[in-house]
Amino acid sequence: MKIICIGRNYVDHTKELKNPVPKNPLVFMKPPSALLINNKPLYYPEFTEDLHYEGELVIKICKNGRHVQPDFARSYYNQIAFGIDFTARDVQARCKEKGHPWEIAKGFDNSAAISKFIHLDPNQDQIVFETKLNGELVQNGNTDDMIFDFNYIICYVSKYFKLQQGDIIFTGTPAGVGPVKIGDQLEGYIMGQKMLECAIK
Ligand code: MG
Repeated sequence: MKIICIGRNYVDHTKELKNPVPKNPLVFMKPPSALLINNKPLYYPEFTEDLHYEGELVIKICKNGRHVQPDFARSYYNQIAFGIDFTARDVQARCKEKGHPWEIAKGFDNSAAISKFIHLDPNQDQIVFETKLNGELVQNGNTDDMIFDFNYIICYVSKYFKLQQGDIIFTGTPAGVGPVKIGDQLEGYIMGQKMLECAIK
């Protein structure tokens, strides 16, 4: 399985990191060894001093496909989860400065925390999601604010990478990302339902 991630997909987050609004989805990947499931804790990696959470909606691919056309995109995913795209922001800044790839800042072990998946109602047109840090609301996302919606992402990504059943896509984070420290507790909610807990150890 692949873990595909979309960056800078909410205008407010793009602005908070002082990045330009992209014309096409920004795509990167994490290896399967990045997965962190079953509400397991994340152990603060020794190579960073600025570990950030990015709360995101994650969709799961339910059938194989290449060059998916817009009219059919919706049939390629039917489940959704809450995920945290953990990012070593200091390492990422050094990579960006040099024009280097991001993998060591984004794809390290356990950097892709995900909740269990739930069925995604095909008639659901707007999904709200929240990240809490130590019980306080820090991110408040709404799929209406995405620059590229789920269907667009499916079409775009499948031009380059064959989508395979079981692949997951992190669809970008809204504003409010920030650092965590050892002892912190993150929680993720979709439509008010608690989906994920992740302690930083
Ligand atoms: Mg992200």
